Amino acid sequence: MNYLSTRGGMPPARFTEILLGGLAPDGGLVVPERYPRIEPATLARWRKLSYPALAFEILRLYADDVPEADLRALIERTYTAQVFGSSEITPLRTLEPGLHLLGLSNGPTLAFKDVAMQLLGQLFEYVLAKQGRELNILGATSGDTGSAAEYAMRGRRGIRVFMLSPYGRMSPFQTAQMFSLDDPNIFNIAVDGVFDDCQDMVKAVSNDLAFKERYAIGTVNSINWARVVAQVVYYFKGWFAATDDDRQRVSFAVPSGNFGNVLAGHIARMMGLPISRLVVATNENDVLDEFFRTGRYRPRGTAETHQTSSPSMDISKASNFERFVYDLVGADAARVAAMWRELDQRGEFDVAGTPEFARLREFGFASGCSRHADRLATIRETRARYGVTIDTHTADGVFVAQRWREPGVPMICLETAQAAKFADTIREAIGEEAPRPPGFENLESLPQRFDRMAPDVGALKRYIAGRCEPR
Ligand SMILES: *Cc1c(COP(=O)(O)O)cnc(C)c1O
Repeated sequence: MNYLSTRGGMPPARFTEILLGGLAPDGGLVVPERYPRIEPATLARWRKLSYPALAFEILRLYADDVPEADLRALIERTYTAQVFGSSEITPLRTLEPGLHLLGLSNGPTLAFKDVAMQLLGQLFEYVLAKQGRELNILGATSGDTGSAAEYAMRGRRGIRVFMLSPYGRMSPFQTAQMFSLDDPNIFNIAVDGVFDDCQDMVKAVSNDLAFKERYAIGTVNSINWARVVAQVVYYFKGWFAATDDDRQRVSFAVPSGNFGNVLAGHIARMMGLPISRLVVATNENDVLDEFFRTGRYRPRGTAETHQTSSPSMDISKASNFERFVYDLVGADAARVAAMWRELDQRGEFDVAGTPEFARLREFGFASGCSRHADRLATIRETRARYGVTIDTHTADGVFVAQRWREPGVPMICLETAQAAKFADTIREAIGEEAPRPPGFENLESLPQRFDRMAPDVGALKRYIAGRCEPR
C-alpha cells in the first residue's frame, strides 16, 4: 500500500515511512492510494474473529510493510482484557431494540482515543527501535488526546512527549490524569490560550522543517494515519455485534470534533461495511454540522470557539476533514489544494450547489448539533430509561442519533468517554456522582507536574531544545 498527499505534492511512501508523521510535506494529509475492498465472503469469515484477530486482518491491509508476525504480536500485546477491561475490548450494550452503545472508553484514560493510541505506542516503539531512531512527540490537546498519548507513550524507549493543553480549560479529572504522570519522558505544557492556539503552535513548529528534523519532532494528533486506521476496526466490531445477517445495514452516531473518529467510519464504509448512515454529532461548535447541512465549510477563530460541557469537541477546524473532502472530490488533489488555498485566503469554502454536495448523502453522512440543555436532558433520560449514565460527548451523539434512526436499521452510538471524567455536568444533569471505575478514586489529589507557557512559538522551541539532544 502506498500513501499520497491529499494535495498531490508527496512521492508515494509506505506505512512505516508515514507512521511517525501526520502532515504531508505540502501541507496536505497522507491518505492511502485506495481503500481495500472487503468482499461479503471475507466479512462473513471475520464475524467469528476476536478483536485482536480482526484488528490484524484490517491493519495488515494498510501496514503491509510491517512483517505479519511482528504486526500480529504488537496487536496482541495491545488489545488485552487487562488494558481494556474485557476481551471484547469494545463491548456493545443494547439500550433498547435497535439502539446500542459501543463502549470505546474502557482503556487507561477512559476515552475512545486509547483504542488507537495504545496501538500507536507499540508501533512507534517498534519502528523506532528498528530504525535506531528517537522521537520527540509534540501534540496539542483539549483533553483526551493528550492523556491518551501520554498513557500510550509513558516509559517507552526512545520517545519523549511534549503535550500542549489550554491552561484551565480541561476538566479537573482530565487535568489530573495528565499532570499527575511523573514519567521522565512526559512533559506537560499548559498554554495561556485555547486549544487552537496550542494546535497553531504545534503546526508552526512542525512547519519549521529544519527544527523538526534537528529535534526529531513527530506527532500523535488525530491526523496521524495509523490512529485513523486503528479506529476503523471497531466499526467492523460494532457491526458484527449488532447484526447476525451479513447484509444487515447499521448506522453509527459519532460525537465529532476533529473528524478523526467519523472518518474511520467513512473508511469502513468505503471498504464495504454495510453502513446506512454516519451521523456527525457536534456540540455548540458546529462547524461540521454547518458543512453537512449547507455545504459551507467555515472554520472559526479562537474568539468564536465556545467552551462547552463536551470539551473534547471544542474544536473550530476539523483537522481530519481534508481526508474526507479528498474522497468527496474523487481524489482530485489539485482541487483539494485549490479549496484549501481558498480557505487560507477567504477563511471558508462552499460546495453548495455542486455535484459533490449532492454526493454527501451517497456517502451516508447526516449531522446535527447538540447544546448544553440537550446534553443534560439526554444524560437524564438515558439514565431514567435504561439505567445507564453516559458522558457528555456520548450524550451529544445519542441526542443527534434520535433524529436519524430508521426503522429496521440498528443505530450504534459510539460511547467516547466515561461519565466520571465530566463529573460537574453529570451532577448538574442527574444530581448524583458519576460512577468512578476502580483505581481512579483519588486521582485529583495526586501531585501535579506541568510548565506554563504563553502562546509563543519561540518559547516552545526553546523549551524543546533545552530538553533533548539535537541530531
Ligand atoms: C476526541 C473526542 C471526541 C471527538 O473525536 P474526533 O475524532 O476529534 O472527532 C469525542 N468525544 C471524546 C470523549 C473525545 O475525547
